[in-house]
Amino acid sequence: MSSVEEYRTKCTFCSVQDDIILKRKSAEAAFFGKDSFFKLYYDEKSDRGLCPRGNFTLELLHSPYRLKNAELFGENCTIEKAIEGSVTELKRIIEKKNNIAILISGNHTLEEAYLARELSEALNTNLLGLFPFEDEALLSVKNNFSFKDLNERDLVLTVGDVFSLSPTLAKPILDARNRKRGNRLISLDILKGRVGLFAEHFNVEPGYMSYVLSVLLDYLKGKKKLDSDAVVGNVPAEKIRDIAEGLRKAENGQILFSNIYGHFANPHSIVRELFEISEITENKFAVIPIGQNSLGVGRIIGAFNNKKIMGALKEKKIEGLIILGGNPFEFIPGFEEMFDYLNFVMSTDFFKGSNESECIIPSAFSFEKRGSLISLEEKIVNLGESISPVGEAISDGDFISSLLLKLKGSRTKAKVSIPKVLPFSDVFDNKKPSSLTNKKFPFAAIGIGLPFHHHRGEITGKVKWNEDKKEPYVFVNPVTVKKNSLRNKVKIETPSGSFIFKIEDCDDLPFQIPEDVIAVPVHFRDCVELFIADSDLDGIISPGAEKARILK
Ligand code: SF4
Repeated sequence: MSSVEEYRTKCTFCSVQDDIILKRKSAEAAFFGKDSFFKLYYDEKSDRGLCPRGNFTLELLHSPYRLKNAELFGENCTIEKAIEGSVTELKRIIEKKNNIAILISGNHTLEEAYLARELSEALNTNLLGLFPFEDEALLSVKNNFSFKDLNERDLVLTVGDVFSLSPTLAKPILDARNRKRGNRLISLDILKGRVGLFAEHFNVEPGYMSYVLSVLLDYLKGKKKLDSDAVVGNVPAEKIRDIAEGLRKAENGQILFSNIYGHFANPHSIVRELFEISEITENKFAVIPIGQNSLGVGRIIGAFNNKKIMGALKEKKIEGLIILGGNPFEFIPGFEEMFDYLNFVMSTDFFKGSNESECIIPSAFSFEKRGSLISLEEKIVNLGESISPVGEAISDGDFISSLLLKLKGSRTKAKVSIPKVLPFSDVFDNKKPSSLTNKKFPFAAIGIGLPFHHHRGEITGKVKWNEDKKEPYVFVNPVTVKKNSLRNKVKIETPSGSFIFKIEDCDDLPFQIPEDVIAVPVHFRDCVELFIADSDLDGIISPGAEKARILK
């Protein structure tokens, strides 16, 4: 006889935080068979189910590539030894103020984020930042959103490809559009992606989204008349007027914003404009971050620090770096060079992969820990029940507590306060931009997300499941391929970097790719290098679309 173990928790892959259930038979005999593995279920009460990434939870759980031991200077050791060895290095570095930076991922609990703040104090630094970088631009928005009501909205305006980045939101959004004749789904993006296929879609010229929204906003405020034959960033003026009137007429409209690395040029300006548009037209507005709890973690950090951190790394002004929940070699463009001059890099990570940090601690996924998160609906929710982490892996909360104990000699209780939304920064960029493409760089490289990959693929991209597509690939319009006699592999160059990519069949992708666009799935490490990680005109590090050329 055996009973069933059941754990209810949240999907680790995005801020929609869908419920997942992990079950297995708890065998009483010491026999290891297929029943010893977990099976994945979703809550049948939920209408949304799980997307391919959510289903990937099991791959993470049973992956043979998980990091199971700590490493110090390339040698396996216990976590205690790794922390002890690191403390000696850290104590020397932190004699100087702001000589070390900490980057924490948005996939941490609120409790872990408070502890990270304590750690930054103990390490004598204000340089505490958030990744994925593109989520930092969203921290000034307090969401006005309800899962329950989403399918009743008479108008949904999406900016960014919500269906690719948060796939389980597709059903309630489509239900809303189909509920009543006259309901509308409008999509604005720099590429016609998955949501665009079902919506009244407008392809905005890459780099122009903030400008187009500023024109829409000025029209709503009565500050601007729109000439009928004018075209703004690819969008005819009459369509901007139509969107404005649609938003005005909507009785319970919802505006949603999604972004991904290499996509929008100045997302902080875009969200401020969308927020104002929602206020004027009395519709709801919400942002959908990439990280599971980026809204919570970012608000606890309490400042836009990534610009300072990336500046200090590039100018070689710091000696140490701590990464909580990721591999800096994968998500920081040009990190190899930074690694060469940094004296000590410590990271908590899930897979060994290419991570060469001096100290690596095996980290637990969200389904292997407990704690709380801020939901898209702005509620504080519990992760639920946790299964035991694999091998020696520990939660970053436990890791930070042990590190603090060694650094300070006493236990630390994190100071907890209500995390507040950050004020919008003063500098905004909604001036008319110049076109991204020119004679020398006739293409725009645009970062896209695929529903089965998470973020830049540092999690899903590493597992055997994807091995058949392990070389980096891009999507190019077949007309462009023919016109330029492109072969199966091409070198793509942007002002930031270059790499050889395979051209993948566009039939694999339901996107419509304009002839002058290269769609770059940003889950490959080499793709990240194509986009500049400098601060944009809003003072935010959030790499956007880049001018590019194809070298045969
Ligand atoms: S949309 Fe997909 S990735 Fe996001 S929480 Fe739901 S199942 Fe997970």
